[in-house]
Amino acid sequence: MSLVYTSILCYSTRVTQVTLLIIFTMLTAMNFVQGQADFMVVIDPGHGGKDHGCSGEHSQEKHITLAIAQKLKNTLTNSLPNCQVILTREHDYFISLSERNQLANEHNADIFLSLHCNYHELKSVHGAESYVLSTDNTIGVDEQLLLRENGNQSSNHKIHEGANVIVQQAYAQANLKESIALASIINKHIESYTDIKARTIKQAHFAVLRGLTMPGVLIESGFLSNLSDEAILLSDLGQTQFAQALAKSIEIYYENSIPSFTRSLIANPIVESKYTVQIASINNGYANTSRPEWRSVGNYTIHRSTNNTYTYTVGSFQSPAEAMLKQSELYDMGFRGAFVINEQSLKNQEKIN
Ligand SMILES: [Zn+2]
Repeated sequence: MSLVYTSILCYSTRVTQVTLLIIFTMLTAMNFVQGQADFMVVIDPGHGGKDHGCSGEHSQEKHITLAIAQKLKNTLTNSLPNCQVILTREHDYFISLSERNQLANEHNADIFLSLHCNYHELKSVHGAESYVLSTDNTIGVDEQLLLRENGNQSSNHKIHEGANVIVQQAYAQANLKESIALASIINKHIESYTDIKARTIKQAHFAVLRGLTMPGVLIESGFLSNLSDEAILLSDLGQTQFAQALAKSIEIYYENSIPSFTRSLIANPIVESKYTVQIASINNGYANTSRPEWRSVGNYTIHRSTNNTYTYTVGSFQSPAEAMLKQSELYDMGFRGAFVINEQSLKNQEKIN
């Protein structure tokens, strides 16, 4: 704004009027952008207040999760202006697990991310893990981890009874594919943005993910029991890189999911639209399929447009989430530019294989 003030002081009255008009236009545009928030992310910094979470040699989980969450909020607010970000806690105080996911449900959030740090008696164990909700509390995961993240109550005690559990399971099933898609994007970006190794995606019966009406992922950002992970997660640079990995993941998820449309797919699964993953598009010729990644891709379809553009796609999927899983697989094979498209966009093109 200092430039604006300088303008007002230095120019003649007529120019000042023009400047004021520009300011007004800018403010109107900013309001318009703010009013356009069409994607809401609830970020949950795990633990807080009397609940410290796990501890490393020099660290407490509750402080690290809050620091990363605040950095993520700042990064995302700048990189994705259409996105509104809410933290379940802004400072070091205690809130219950159910208050955290209720906040996300009340705001009709599009995604929910719960941030945590892990601990293991073996100090050599390291790396980040992404979890999606399992409706089956008998699935074998580290019982100590479940106890810690579920507020020191056995997962069996936390299951709600009766109709409630059926509703919760329906939501969990409806959101499972998208949660896995989001978790796989997050894993990939943790690897590329941070010095923390990304371990596999897992399912567990985490109370904070239970009852969510939107896709949710719980991220164990690293092991505080491991000196290297702890040093990274304690450092300003490490926290910033972790926040950037999550922000980039959310951006990619947002660009691919078209959230309100995805929700309508969940509510009305019988729709005519299908999705595919575009892996190449070449003007006036065929792609060079002798490159190594093409050997593992399997079946693909070539579409020729009227102006001789050859578009290569893989698969046909009922939902964007399923297509995103394929996209993630193709990315790992080497198709770094793969992205999800609606098959409708190819409907006037000729299939030539
Ligand atoms: Zn935790």
